[in-house]
Amino acid sequence: MSIIILPDEVASQIAAGEVVERASSVVKELLENAIDAGANRINIRVEGAGKSLIQVSDNGSGIDSKDLQLAVTRHATSKLATSEDLFHIRTLGFRGEALASIGSVSQLKMTSSTGKEGRGSKIQVEGGRILSLEEIGVPAGTVVTVANLFFNTPARLKFLKRDQTERQHIETLVTRYALAYPNLSIQLDIDGKQSFHTTGNGDSREILVQLYGYEIAKQMLEVIFVEEGIRIFGYISPISFTRSNRKEITFFVNGRWVQDVSLASALVKAYLTYIMVGRFPISTLFIEIPPEEVDVNVHPAKLEVRFRQSDLMFTLVQKAVKRALLAYSPVAQLSSSLWHSSFSTNQGEVAWINEKINWEFENSGQISAEQNTTDPKTDSDQFHVMDSIPDLRLIGQVGATYLVAEGPDGLYLIDQHAAHERVLFDKMVNVSEKMESQNLLEPVIAQFSPQSAGIIMEFLPVLNKCGFRVDEFGTNAFRITSIPIIFKNGDPQAALSSIVEDFEEDETPLQRLKENRLIARICKRMAIKGGQTLSMLEQTALVGDLRKSVSPRTCPHGRPTMIHISVDLIEKQFGRRGARSFE
Ligand code: ADP
Ligand code: MG
Repeated sequence: MSIIILPDEVASQIAAGEVVERASSVVKELLENAIDAGANRINIRVEGAGKSLIQVSDNGSGIDSKDLQLAVTRHATSKLATSEDLFHIRTLGFRGEALASIGSVSQLKMTSSTGKEGRGSKIQVEGGRILSLEEIGVPAGTVVTVANLFFNTPARLKFLKRDQTERQHIETLVTRYALAYPNLSIQLDIDGKQSFHTTGNGDSREILVQLYGYEIAKQMLEVIFVEEGIRIFGYISPISFTRSNRKEITFFVNGRWVQDVSLASALVKAYLTYIMVGRFPISTLFIEIPPEEVDVNVHPAKLEVRFRQSDLMFTLVQKAVKRALLAYSPVAQLSSSLWHSSFSTNQGEVAWINEKINWEFENSGQISAEQNTTDPKTDSDQFHVMDSIPDLRLIGQVGATYLVAEGPDGLYLIDQHAAHERVLFDKMVNVSEKMESQNLLEPVIAQFSPQSAGIIMEFLPVLNKCGFRVDEFGTNAFRITSIPIIFKNGDPQAALSSIVEDFEEDETPLQRLKENRLIARICKRMAIKGGQTLSMLEQTALVGDLRKSVSPRTCPHGRPTMIHISVDLIEKQFGRRGARSFE
């Protein structure tokens, strides 16, 4: 075959493939255009998971009639004029590619008006060809309608995941942008139902509540950090809220959502020693940096950026996160370097510790980054690890949260919540048939985020097997009529909401594992809490039950149920051995 120059149509389809990977890419480009146009009200409609219809309407600047045809032409943009401009980009768009790309793989209709005398125009494009262009009367702003996405690229259509997954991508995208732009009112309707809505009043907490529910939202820690002309702000979860994957780690750089492995690992590193390996925080961080310091023109979908000083960025993100964690929470894990100071949980003291230590685990018995990377989600053997504990002599309870016990080889501090979770979990998985349930006197109506609601719908059969009776009750709301009998005194809504977060995965795990994960989450909610005083009898029963477990050292989520402080460590700390002196 001789070399030919590809026909325009083929070339634009190839280019479109990079920009428009899935329905959520279309939503992203249209949403970014609306934001660039200065809109403060943006409505998004999605039907058929975005394959049948995506419509984005905004009240922004609009496009002049004479420019409408240009807008859908490749490499046509109003946001950039010279190559020098590429290094000072303040808009989200700049490549002039999105509308052309979308038009080449769908049926695109666009109406727009700059608001002059209510006049505007409408253009229709199908598979890259312009079908019509006419003047019409429309209000100021722009409406872009994308129908039958990928109708002319069946291969791409086949690569799309299940509708539920595609919808989730769209919801995630829109909700994250809503959080990044709290001053814009953004509404998302899916299949005719309102799925998400922000008022544009600038209150980010309010949006967090919609995203994660009230309980989590109120506990998210605020990050505010400025150094070297770079501002990092946003929200991170306290160490007590973690997930089994990185999906809730979001970064925006100068208002642009980016997927940056290095930033994410800086964040995760900051949590290291606080949370279990294989667990990840929830966070949305916004980085503001002079445009000259960051190259945004790396990826056709503009999902990646390159920092001029990437090491500095890594350090700053880590620092910002550590600082926020320290400001809110005392040192959680025991390492020998912390041991002498960790009795104090007062903030000044903790900050001081921060200066003194270098965040390394010194204790070989601790979990370190590279060892013990069992992911509780993917590793089914997690539930059958044999790591028994010795006979323990119970001493008592501290802080109404930990049980203190003596073993042949030192001291054991047992987290009563984690321990009870383990005990409950073992009991529940060993009940192989359908779990008994108890009807609630009053059905409970519970409201969920769009994502969670989708997941609950999907997992109704498993929930049912676990003893829940739940049915749909309006938009993202469910009616709970019964709960597993073993939790008869628990809060049904809390139980349900706490069990869905782990299921936002694309891949469907094995059925058994799926159930185990569900049960693990229920146990977490229902277990004895920290801060609850237990009688000596209850303490003894708990430790006794825990000893019977096949994996007593971890809760079903992989976190430790106990800390072991060896006689050896105690002796070292008192300076009896190893010549470690604090005087
Ligand atoms: P880019 O955003 O990279 O410039 P696009 O293909 O997304 O490229 O859009 C092309 C041009 O169309 C933009 O530069 C802008 O001038 C105009 N445009 C697109 N969407 C809108 C909108 N919602 N409101 C106003 N102008 C828009
Ligand atoms: Mg654009």
